[in-house]
Amino acid sequence: MKAVHTIEEVREQVREWKKQGLKVGLVPTMGALHAGHLSLIKKSVETCNRTVVSVFVNPIQFCPGEDLDKYPRTFEKDCETAKIADLIFAPSPKEMYGEGHILSNDFLTYVIPPYFYTDKLCGKSRVGHFDGVCTVVNKLFNIVQPDFAFFGEKDRQQLIIIKKMVKDLNIPIEIVGCPIVREESGLALSSRNSYLTPEQKQDALALSKILFNIQNCYKKGITDISALKETAYAFLNKNHDLEYLEFRDEEDLEEKTIADDRTIVFIALRLGNVRLIDNVSLKG
Ligand code: AMP
Repeated sequence: MKAVHTIEEVREQVREWKKQGLKVGLVPTMGALHAGHLSLIKKSVETCNRTVVSVFVNPIQFCPGEDLDKYPRTFEKDCETAKIADLIFAPSPKEMYGEGHILSNDFLTYVIPPYFYTDKLCGKSRVGHFDGVCTVVNKLFNIVQPDFAFFGEKDRQQLIIIKKMVKDLNIPIEIVGCPIVREESGLALSSRNSYLTPEQKQDALALSKILFNIQNCYKKGITDISALKETAYAFLNKNHDLEYLEFRDEEDLEEKTIADDRTIVFIALRLGNVRLIDNVSLKG
């Protein structure tokens, strides 16, 4: 496994692989790699001949006041975790966006996903977040030119938006969605879990408990969404600041009027300053 930091180096390596007829997989990440990221890397290694992992804390997907500066950066450890991959691409913000990125003429072109997909769920409180995500993912696609790209269902709204972007813009890359990796407790792995105090980590179990309880109730035959939502309150205490609990379609994020097998239940809540998200498909 080799780590490179420039666009030219990654292009040169991928060009060589392509000449040999090898299939290339890309796993885009912001680093602070954990077993969730590793599951995507493993899937890529199984599916493709060569795997590139990008490690880039993308400044343009953070909103003002978010955790850009304190986002965990653990590059040495990431190289160890991702060692089954063939190449790590870890560019600087300058390499991706030029000098004085964001407000300079070096970088002006954004990819804006459809409003209908971004005016809800995480997009509602994180205005512009998915513009930043689609823009960087497009840039990474153009830099690496992979055959496959791997994304986690942990960020389900992101996965749905990226699939839509790839379809709408005829991007010749197959998007592979990978299941959420959880701790034994049910807590979905996330780089942001490192912000949690031990007490908050206990409180964080509410997310998966709420979702799995709703999934069980649905399996027992309850399809009324108000009734399913009601069940969440048993798991919430004064530390939980619930941002949303919503039932939406797995493909177009349309709000559901009745729960069915195409329904994804999305949750976001804040514990102090830490914002956590999770989701579950009702079909299980
Ligand atoms: P991030 O570094 O948080 O941007 O995540 C990079 C990729 O890893 C995204 O496609 C995430 O959805 C995915 N990912 C993060 N956490 C998990 C998890 N617990 N299980 C599966 N995939 C995950």
